[in-house]
Amino acid sequence: MASTSPDRRGVGSALDPSAEQIRDMSGRAVEWVVAHHDSIRDLPIAPRTSAAALKKALAEPLPVEGRDFTDLLTVFRDVVVPGSRHNGHPRFFGYVSAPGTAVAAVADFLASALNPNLTAWRSAPAPTELEHVTIDWIKEALGCDPGAGGLFTSGGSMANLTALAAARHRHCGDAVATHGAAAHPAPLRVYASTETHHSIHKAAALLGIGRASVREIPVDARFRMDVDALVGAIEEDRAAGAEPFCVVANAGTVVTGAVDPLAEIAAVARRYGLWMHVDACYGGFARLAPSARPLFDGLSEADSIALDPHKWLYLPADCGCLIYRDPEAARPAFSLDADYTRVMQTEPAEAFAFWDYGPDLSRRFRALKVWMALAHAGSRAVGDAIEGNLDCARHLAELVEASADFELLAPVELSIFCFRYLPPSARAGSRGQADEEELDRLNERIMVALQQGGSSYLSNATINGRFALRGCVLNYRTTRRDMEVLLDDVRRAAKQVIEETP
Ligand SMILES: *Cc1c(COP(=O)(O)O)cnc(C)c1O
Repeated sequence: MASTSPDRRGVGSALDPSAEQIRDMSGRAVEWVVAHHDSIRDLPIAPRTSAAALKKALAEPLPVEGRDFTDLLTVFRDVVVPGSRHNGHPRFFGYVSAPGTAVAAVADFLASALNPNLTAWRSAPAPTELEHVTIDWIKEALGCDPGAGGLFTSGGSMANLTALAAARHRHCGDAVATHGAAAHPAPLRVYASTETHHSIHKAAALLGIGRASVREIPVDARFRMDVDALVGAIEEDRAAGAEPFCVVANAGTVVTGAVDPLAEIAAVARRYGLWMHVDACYGGFARLAPSARPLFDGLSEADSIALDPHKWLYLPADCGCLIYRDPEAARPAFSLDADYTRVMQTEPAEAFAFWDYGPDLSRRFRALKVWMALAHAGSRAVGDAIEGNLDCARHLAELVEASADFELLAPVELSIFCFRYLPPSARAGSRGQADEEELDRLNERIMVALQQGGSSYLSNATINGRFALRGCVLNYRTTRRDMEVLLDDVRRAAKQVIEETP
């Protein structure tokens, strides 16, 4: 064993605290966690604060002398917590946000305390094996082939970027990696529906493929990619001398939750030799819910799948994930030769390095929270919770359709719902462009009033050019009753806005 310095032990300093100090700091932090967990349902969802007020409370020059932990916990409790939006509240329906789970928070604490660096097996043997095990579980949840493999990333945007880099490298080879994008003789094309998340366009921009090379394919009435239009676009581009190399399918769009026809897109990808990437960041884990499972037929044929365990596995940020159907097809895009990456082991599992499959070198131990959360709950409880979220969204859609004062603006495919409030004047008869624009403005003001009210939170989307109130149920705490409270809250916000109108 390495020698410890007995004179430091038991004395403690800020950098190297004593056992008693660690127990005291973490004990008080745990008490806050318990109280927060108990009160989350009663907190105002969104903070009423301003950047100026927060700066005033937080900004100070770099402290030269250290301060007591108690002071810091006080700032956390009195400034940081009330200045935060509480994504764990059962009626926080904005964006695509997970509530986090208690066991995953504990896992993150342990992961940071152990502090392994998951660059490669030799740097972190057991943590690396745990990442393989949890990736295998995710493969099983998605119905992937046993030969598939992957890794955790900071988030879905990074998973999408990494997938596009692998796809581009398979098509272009070493010339582009060595000499840059200009070394490729023909313009490249990526295909994705008009509903695709902007991280795909950002990835194309960052990789030198170019945003304009992402060709947007129209969608059907359910906001799913029109596969005939995809084939038409590929044929047209090929005839014009461009090189189609990748198609991105959605398994749950962020706007309406649409799942593209994955099996049909896989057939097109095979026919034209395209890399098929599926952005399943929002929707992928819904395959654990029996009622949604058929939507994911064809998913396992994808060359890569981007996921976000920090969404529908309910985990705290950050944790994204990328699965490759054939990890060896991705490896040439990332592996490199440097002295410090040279591997001496001969046993293949021990020569494994994550840096061969993505851009990161140092990586945190995300697998621990995935492992603890999944093993602690079991896939049945997670699937049941996801099924409950789907049920809440369908319930909301039924309530909206049964009410004269609300209008559903898109079909509910998974747990996202888009609707708007209709004032009495808009409930009967036909509406002209001016009426539509007035409805847009009214609903935007309703959303702001709702957010300020603190009881329910929706974000917005544009559906066929119209302003929609948009929500996403992604929380194991949310019940059918919460959906009813939401509609009451929207009605109250609408009344307030209409009364305030001069
Ligand atoms: C959330 C999301 C992303 C981006 O993921 P981050 O983890 O926020 O980087 C990409 N695509 C879809 C469909 C998403 O829902």
